[in-house]
Amino acid sequence: MNAEIIAVGSELLLGQIVNTNAQFLSQQLAALGINVYFQTVVGDNAGRLEQAVKTAQTRANLIIFTGGLGPTKDDVTKETIARLLGRRLVIDEEALRAIEAYFARANRPMTDNNKKQALVLEGATVLKNENGMAPGMALTVAGITYMLLPGPPKEMRPMFTRYGIPFLRAAFPLSGRIESRVLRFFGIGEAALETALADLIDAQSNPTIAPLAGDGEVTLRLTAKHRDAAEAQRLLDEAEAAILARVGRYCYGYDDETLFTKTSERLKERGWTIAAAESLTGGLFLEQLTAVPGASRIVQGGVVCYTNGVKQQVLGVPRPLLETDGAVSESCARVLAENVRSLCGADVGISLTGVAGPDPLEGHPPGTVYIGIAMRERGTAVRRLTLSGTRGDIRIRAAKYGCFLLLEL
Ligand code: ATP
Ligand code: MG
Repeated sequence: MNAEIIAVGSELLLGQIVNTNAQFLSQQLAALGINVYFQTVVGDNAGRLEQAVKTAQTRANLIIFTGGLGPTKDDVTKETIARLLGRRLVIDEEALRAIEAYFARANRPMTDNNKKQALVLEGATVLKNENGMAPGMALTVAGITYMLLPGPPKEMRPMFTRYGIPFLRAAFPLSGRIESRVLRFFGIGEAALETALADLIDAQSNPTIAPLAGDGEVTLRLTAKHRDAAEAQRLLDEAEAAILARVGRYCYGYDDETLFTKTSERLKERGWTIAAAESLTGGLFLEQLTAVPGASRIVQGGVVCYTNGVKQQVLGVPRPLLETDGAVSESCARVLAENVRSLCGADVGISLTGVAGPDPLEGHPPGTVYIGIAMRERGTAVRRLTLSGTRGDIRIRAAKYGCFLLLEL
């Protein structure tokens, strides 16, 4: 069982739009346990599309097309496939009624080429378009399944999810269940994580282990196949245990969890409130933390202490300290964390001070960051970090690092 995705559209070849349809479909098919071996992009040109289809026929038994189902002359997907398969195009009455109703509602005259959108390959299963006019379709001819989907993502995605997936499930009954689990890591780079797990990643075929990096984080997607769902979960548990035995200290959560939702949860569990003194992050840390529902139970408040004046006057950092050690220093982070904690009457005080860049500050290169964490009974700890990336990367990574350190408490 292997698939090829053919995205049709000259604007893709011109680099005017990104082929997000192929990305979406690849992810969906992977989750269904269907291997995608090729992604092809071809312009709105019948001859070249025909060539692409003929090539795909030699190497795939599922070919999914996106784009070119619309009413205009450059929309050639249906006609080309009909010709290649020797099938007629016939009007789908339900689709035609939906198109007529659309024009009636919009109070616009319907043109003949709009009728063309209701044409489907004879014998195909019609996939309803609930967000546009051109229906999709799927049919199997000589052992190859063809699925045609519209180009606009807001039409294609719901159509595939709602009607495409059930069609594929029925057409290709899987021998087993697919269960997947995402492990989320922070504080370790993708390369370091892959190196630590190289032998596991190479040796595993069930579950498969796929790393993905982004936003300063790395995730591992584990995907297991088994006839029995419980058994698939057991395979995932085993692989997870082997992974965590090596890099568990960097793993902060699963699936859709984020550092901020985890931090919020953890603070609630402990019954702790928090206050933040934010210099380089300018409020980003608290913005993200307060975005999590239930923040009022943990967030006490904070100070955006961007200038030395505010650090001194609002948060009581002694002037000599700023003059000798500077704002980007361990000692400054310590005082900021302690004083914001007491100023706001919180259990935990956190401070973030450093250089977001692009220019150096006080002789420190961009990415130099100090994070202080002060607690009433446990005292204060300061961590010095060297972060990389753009100004935006450094700011969000610093905020995330703040969470990561709080999760260690
Ligand atoms: P329409 O009825 O809107 O003409 P269509 O099925 O004919 O739909 P296209 O004309 O090929 O589709 O594309 C319409 C729009 O959909 C494009 O302008 C683009 O914005 C978006 N689109 C098409 N293909 C892709 C793709 N592979 N990835 C992301 N967006 C796409
Ligand atoms: Mg079109």
